[in-house]
Amino acid sequence: MTPEPASLCLGCWQNLHLPIPLRGPLSAPFRVFGIKPSRMNPNTCTICEMAFSKIMKARAVTIEATVMFADLRGYTELTQSLEQEALTSLLDTFYDDCAAAIWRYDGLLNKTIGDAVFAIFNFPVRRQDHAAEALRAAREIQKRFAAQHDQLAQTIGTSAADLGIGIGIDSGETNFGEFGQTHRDLTAIGTVVNRAARAQTVAKPGEILVTSAVRERTADMIRGDGRDYALKGFGMPVTLFSG
Ligand SMILES: [Zn+2]
Repeated sequence: MTPEPASLCLGCWQNLHLPIPLRGPLSAPFRVFGIKPSRMNPNTCTICEMAFSKIMKARAVTIEATVMFADLRGYTELTQSLEQEALTSLLDTFYDDCAAAIWRYDGLLNKTIGDAVFAIFNFPVRRQDHAAEALRAAREIQKRFAAQHDQLAQTIGTSAADLGIGIGIDSGETNFGEFGQTHRDLTAIGTVVNRAARAQTVAKPGEILVTSAVRERTADMIRGDGRDYALKGFGMPVTLFSG
C-alpha cells in the first residue's frame, strides 16, 4: 500500500534500484528530460513506461497479475435523464475514487472505457500480494462511493436507486504488451482479463465478484460459498465469490 504520493518512483526503485524523484525540487532536473509521474500510476514514472516499450521488442510478456474491472451501474439510463453537467461530475467522482484507490494499492489504471475502469495489479510495481491489494482497492472504491451515494442520489433524483458500482476481479497469467498494428495500445489481454470483465457484468450494484483464483490468493479475506455463473464466452459455469 502506498498511502501518500510517493516521492521516488516505486517501479524504478524496485526493478532498477534507481532513485528517481517524482515530486519536489529534486524532480525538476528530471522533468527537463521528460521524466515525470506516469498518468497510469503517478507513483511510477515515464521511464517505467519506456521500460514497457523495451518489453515491446518482444511485443508482449506473460506476467502474473490481478485484473480488475469496475463499472458504474445505471449510467447509460442516466445519460437520458441527466443534465450534461451532472453526468460529467458523476463520472469525475467515479474516476477519481477509482484512481485514488487503485494507486493507493499500487495498481496501474490502464484504461477508462466509457463508464468502466480497467486496472492491473503487479505491474510495474511488483507485489507478492497483488490479488489482496486489488481486493482492498475494490473495497475502498465501494466504500468511497457508498459514502457519497446519498448525496449523489439527491443531486441526480429518483433514478438513482440502481446507482452503484459493479466490480469483477480475476488473477493469473496475463499477456501484457502493446497490441494493434495501426493504433498501438499498451494493455493486458487473455482469459484472466475476459473473466474479470465478465464477472464485472454479473456483479450487482455495490457488489464485488472474484474468481476462485483470487479467493485462493487472498487467504481469509473472503468468506462464504461461491455461486456458479454462466458467463458469456465461457463454456463451463464459472464459480464466483462475493468479495
Ligand atoms: Zn520509474
